Amino acid sequence: MKKGYYGQWGGAFVPEVLQATFDALNKAYETARADASFWQEYVDLMANYSCRPTPLTYAENLTRHFGGAKIYIKREDLNHTGAHKANNVMGQGLLVRRMGKKRVIAETGAGQHGVATATMAARFGFACTIYMGEEDVARQRPNVFWMEKLGATVVPVTDGSRTLKDAMNEAFRDWVTSMEDTHYVIGTVCGPHPFPEMVAWFQSIIGIEARRQILAQHGRMPDRVYACVGGGSNAMGIFQGFLEEPGVELVGVEAGGLGIDTGKHASRMVEGSGASAGVAQGYKTLFLQSPEGQMRDTHSIAAGLDYVGISPILSDLGEKGRVRFAAATDREVIEALSLAMRTEGLIPAMESAHAFVQAFKEAPTMSKDQAIIINMSGRGDKDIFTIAHAFDDPSWKAFIVKRAEEYR
Ligand SMILES: *Cc1c(COP(=O)(O)O)cnc(C)c1O
Repeated sequence: MKKGYYGQWGGAFVPEVLQATFDALNKAYETARADASFWQEYVDLMANYSCRPTPLTYAENLTRHFGGAKIYIKREDLNHTGAHKANNVMGQGLLVRRMGKKRVIAETGAGQHGVATATMAARFGFACTIYMGEEDVARQRPNVFWMEKLGATVVPVTDGSRTLKDAMNEAFRDWVTSMEDTHYVIGTVCGPHPFPEMVAWFQSIIGIEARRQILAQHGRMPDRVYACVGGGSNAMGIFQGFLEEPGVELVGVEAGGLGIDTGKHASRMVEGSGASAGVAQGYKTLFLQSPEGQMRDTHSIAAGLDYVGISPILSDLGEKGRVRFAAATDREVIEALSLAMRTEGLIPAMESAHAFVQAFKEAPTMSKDQAIIINMSGRGDKDIFTIAHAFDDPSWKAFIVKRAEEYR
């Protein structure tokens, strides 16, 4: 198969001027990948900076609650900065240092990838510029605050709809003029080759650990593995530990938003989502787009899942039937989040709670000797504004009003 393609999906549709940069990146990545000491350096960095290996927690109370399959939870929430995004950015950071570059750029929608990238840049001593739609800058002040305090320059993008895709265009424009000393840190398993493959490689640390941990704790392979899917990086991370095990069912859970039939969702793989094949943002995948190729507006309660495209690797695995897809609605996500908090004392991120929804639907229908793993991609306590709003908590509102008055 052609390099960077997964079935009919993937590729590297990049402007001519960036070709040499991509060639150099491919070379650096291939060399690192073939060098066992690079991976060891990465594993050591993550162990000493980001709490790896993250635990696999047996959720005894949830298991009892549903009375079916044993439920295990992979704790990516315990990473530094609170999610699996740390794996990718720190891996790319090591590669940037190897390439001798001194500056990183990234685009971010909700700001989580921006915070992760700014953290990595601070640690490695790189200059850092984050592009963010003006609209998102206004909506995501806490993340912008942290990026700036971590030393990054946040550039509000005023083009177009002033959101993620405009920020992405701006980041590419920067890269074209700065590629000599700058690396563009893509945040998920999307974009032109080698990004999907490279990001999946860094995230495979989740699956390598989970496989070892489930064998140690359960004595054999799990029956099913659940992960939420935005771009697809946490899902690909854990799935890679089990891809070659035909007995392990892999389940990707997308953002069903207000319901697939309302059109207000961010699901590309479930029936009726309306996604179609297209080439955009440097690669070929299923996009939520109009027949003319205009990207559609997506909706999800979880900012991290609110994306028009999906990893070309997952488009392929879905098409082949190796990964089964489902969608969880905003309402179901809030219910699953409540249950996880009250029964296990865990606070999943809104994104991660999508995986919990589908696992909670299926666990009771499975037998007690079966086991499932839910990938808890991140923690929700940093999402307090969104979560408190979703719970419509009156005391929280009063608190916000009072704090606002103090600044008058
Ligand atoms: C960003 C994010 C996601 C979505 O990204 P993927 O690439 O699909 O993993 C999921 N969960 C959390 C907690 C995130 O921050």
